[in-house]
Amino acid sequence: MTDRTRESGRLDAGELRRRTADLLVSCPPAETAPLDFLRARFDAGLAWVHFPQGLGGLDAPRALQVVVDAELEAAGAPDNDPRRIGIGLGMAAPTILRFGTDEQKRRFLRPLWTGEEVWCQLFSEPGAGSDLAALATRAVRDEDGTGWVVDGQKVWTSGAHQARWAILIARTDPELPKHRGITYFVCDMTDPGVEVRPLRQITGEAEFNEVFLTGVRIPDAHRLGAVGEGWKVAQTTLMNERVAIGGARQPREGGMIGVAARAWRERPGARTHDLHQRLLRHWVDAEVARLTGERLRQQLAKGHPGPEGSGMKLAFARLAQQISGWEVEFLGEDGLAYDDWTLRRPEGVDFTGRQAGYRYLRAKGNSIEGGTSEVLLNIVAERVLGLPPEPRTDKDAAWKDLPR
Ligand SMILES: Cc1cc2nc3c(=O)[nH]c(=O)nc-3n(C[C@H](O)[C@H](O)[C@H](O)COP(=O)(O)OP(=O)(O)OC[C@H]3O[C@@H](n4cnc5c(N)ncnc54)[C@H](O)[C@@H]3O)c2cc1C
Repeated sequence: MTDRTRESGRLDAGELRRRTADLLVSCPPAETAPLDFLRARFDAGLAWVHFPQGLGGLDAPRALQVVVDAELEAAGAPDNDPRRIGIGLGMAAPTILRFGTDEQKRRFLRPLWTGEEVWCQLFSEPGAGSDLAALATRAVRDEDGTGWVVDGQKVWTSGAHQARWAILIARTDPELPKHRGITYFVCDMTDPGVEVRPLRQITGEAEFNEVFLTGVRIPDAHRLGAVGEGWKVAQTTLMNERVAIGGARQPREGGMIGVAARAWRERPGARTHDLHQRLLRHWVDAEVARLTGERLRQQLAKGHPGPEGSGMKLAFARLAQQISGWEVEFLGEDGLAYDDWTLRRPEGVDFTGRQAGYRYLRAKGNSIEGGTSEVLLNIVAERVLGLPPEPRTDKDAAWKDLPR
């Protein structure tokens, strides 16, 4: 350790580089199976450096993760395919870290990070999307009082067909107002009572599913947070979700704006003055959003995400729709071509690897998934700007008495 590190008690960039180099010596990427490398990386505390020791981290400043990532990338080390395990990394992990017991953290975080266990999110229901606290899926204590039995239906569950575990919210007390009678669980997707049915999207793919829960058993040891406190726990998930969707790190001209700018450079014949003006505006907006994302990540390094993440996700959705619309228009007839209409079950969203038509159709979901733009505007208005809240007449009524 350097003197400065020793004094502050926290690891600095130099120390993290040294530990990364040690990992590369003990597990040379070219000679180590990818999963073994990822497990060793987690055990060395280099998975998410800001997590506690023993849970994939070193209690180091979050901002130093980039140092480790850059060294490992340069050495050709395997990554854990964040696109495939985005819900686990972005939503389940921060929630388990904050609300989980020591045993839950030890059991779930390592295979979550290495990608051995994929996670999905059983939140939305028919009739409880934006108004998530209205959810009707029930969890009741089982006969011997050691666990819970869950019945209900969830919808739009991305990746449920690949998931080993789910984060689930369910109603445990219908007598209480809707926000207070909810409890948060980890649900075993291999339970015989879990049925997953694909839902085909406008893109032709089925990223998400309907999930029917019939007599699903959940041990009490898989409850996250206190009984009836599920709404509070879910807020952590939702705030992290917005950052996970809207706040991915991008290089300048990365992502969709990069694809559009390349198309512009390659097709001088399709250029018009109007398209030029609009592309420039989108480019500037994309750069502003990228830099705002950087600032948000710096804030995040100091604590948990706040409601500001909703603004980031809003900007991401608006831009994705505008740029993909621009691209389809710019490409003319080619923009209307569609590459693959078979019902596929992809492992994630491929915004830059597919054609313009795919980007255009998939971007429609950006203003719905992870909270609709209208609801995020409400959050920004109320919790960032402090404007008067929407009238909520059902706030204090028992959930069982609400009209449905
Ligand atoms: C691609 C995709 C992936 C998804 N993945 C998951 C997943 O993995 N897990 C999961 O649990 N859910 C998932 N969802 C569900 C998503 O979170 C919900 O669709 C979303 O929260 C909206 O809920 P809803 O569809 O019930 O629409 P509703 O809530 O019925 O909204 C309908 C319309 O009314 C508007 N509206 C509603 N309330 C207000 C209000 N107070 N003020 C102003 N306007 C309002 C909405 O903005 C919207 O335009 C996914 C959705 C998509 C599109």
